[in-house]
Amino acid sequence: MARIVQKFGGTSVADIDRIKHVAQKVKTCLEAGNQVAVVVSAMAGSTNQLVEWAKQIDPMHDAREYDTVVSTGEQITVGLLAIALQTIGVDARSWLGWQIPLLTDDVHSAARIEDIKADQIIDRLEQGQVAVIAGFQGIAPDGRISTLGRGGSDTSAVALAAAIKADRCDIYTDVEGVYTTDPRIMPKARKLDSITFEEMLEMASAGAKVLQTRSVAMAMRHHVKLQVLSSFTDTPGTLVQNEEKQMEKQKVSGIAYSAEEAKVTVVGLPDKPGIAAKIFSALAETHINVDMIVQSASPDSQKTDITFSLARSELEKAVTALTRLKTELAFVALVHDDNIAKISVIGTAMRTQSGIAKLMFEVLSEKKINMQVISTSEIKISVLIQADYTELAVRSLHDAFELDKID
Ligand code: ADP
Ligand code: ASP
Ligand code: MG
Repeated sequence: MARIVQKFGGTSVADIDRIKHVAQKVKTCLEAGNQVAVVVSAMAGSTNQLVEWAKQIDPMHDAREYDTVVSTGEQITVGLLAIALQTIGVDARSWLGWQIPLLTDDVHSAARIEDIKADQIIDRLEQGQVAVIAGFQGIAPDGRISTLGRGGSDTSAVALAAAIKADRCDIYTDVEGVYTTDPRIMPKARKLDSITFEEMLEMASAGAKVLQTRSVAMAMRHHVKLQVLSSFTDTPGTLVQNEEKQMEKQKVSGIAYSAEEAKVTVVGLPDKPGIAAKIFSALAETHINVDMIVQSASPDSQKTDITFSLARSELEKAVTALTRLKTELAFVALVHDDNIAKISVIGTAMRTQSGIAKLMFEVLSEKKINMQVISTSEIKISVLIQADYTELAVRSLHDAFELDKID
C-alpha cells in the first residue's frame, strides 16, 4: 500500500463533469489499495476573476482582505469534490487551510508554508478516508487566511506530500507533462519523460507555469517523488528527479518564457556605495520581487544607471516606491516599460558545452529581435525582449536547438 498525494489544477476541476471525472480518478487510486490525499485548485478562471474584483475596488488593496477574497475559489472545489466522491461511495472529507492547520508566515498574498500539522489528516487516511484539501491557502500567525502566490496549490501539494511522508506526489494538469517549451505556443514541443530538479526549477522560475517554482524547490529539499501528468488522458507523464538518474543530455533541455514582465531604469544615480542598497531595500519593504538587475559601468565614476525587471503586475507599486526616493537619491529620471518578455534557454549540459549563448544570440539577431538585458546562471541564459516577439523568439529558438528531435 502506498500513500499518494494527487493534485488537480484549475482546468481539471473547471466544471461539474470534470469534478466527477476527478472523483473517478481518485476512486481508482484508492481502490488500487492506496491512501489518497487530494489537493485541488479553484475552477479555471475563478481566481483571476476574484483578483480582478479586488483590483477594481482598490489596486493597492489590503493584502489580508485580498487573501480572504482569492482563497474562496478553492473552498468551492474542495466541497464539490468531497460531495462527488461521497456520491460514488468513497468516504471523503474536505479541509480548508486553517482546519488542518497549514501554518504560513505573515506575508499575505505571497505567504510561505512554515509547518503542516498533519496528524489529523494521517489518521483519516489510515482509516481509509480521502482527504480533499484546499490548495493555495493557509493560516498566518495573525489568525487570518493567507495565500501562497499564484499557482500556489502545486506548493500546497508538495508540502503536504512531505508532511505526510507520501510515496508520490502526482500533479494532474491540462497537458501530458513537462514539455521542451509551452506546447500551447509551440505545437512541435516534445514531452520529456524526465527532467532534473535543477532544470525544472530554472524552467519554472523562468516562467514555465506548469509547476510553481517553490513547489519544485520544496520537492528537491524534501525528496518528494514528483510527477506531472494529464488528468484527461492515461498517458505517462514527466518525472522530476535527481540529475544522476538522467542520461547524457541534449545541449538545451527547454525554453521558457514569461510575457508578463516589466523593466525599470533608474537613470543618473550617483555612483557611490549604498545607492543600490537603498533602491532594493525600498522595493523589498514593499514585498516586490525583483528578477534581473544590471548596473551600467560608469565611465566617469560620477553617474550610473540601474535597470531591473519585475512582474508587470508589480510595476505600479515599484514606481510609487522609487518616486518617493527621488530627492534623497538625486537620480535624474525613472524610465519604465511594461511590454517586456523574458526568454530563457535551460539545460544542465551548459556546464560542459560551449556555443549555446552564441547560437541563442544569432537566432534572435536573425529574427531582428533586440535583446535589452542579458543574464546567465550556470544552466540558464535569459534575455529581455519586447513582448510582441515572444512567440517568434520561442519558436525560432526551439527550432535552432532542435528540441523537436528525439535524441
Ligand atoms: P493547472 O491549472 O493545472 O495548475 P497551469 O495552467 O498552472 O495548470 O499549468 C499548465 C500550463 O502550463 C499548460 O497548459 C501550459 O500551457 C503551460 N506550460 C508552460 N510551459 C510549459 C512546459 N514547458 N511544459 C508544459 N506546460 C507548460
Ligand atoms: N487558484 C490559484 C491560482 O489560480 C492557485 C492554483 O491554481 O495553483 O493561482
Ligand atoms: Mg498551476
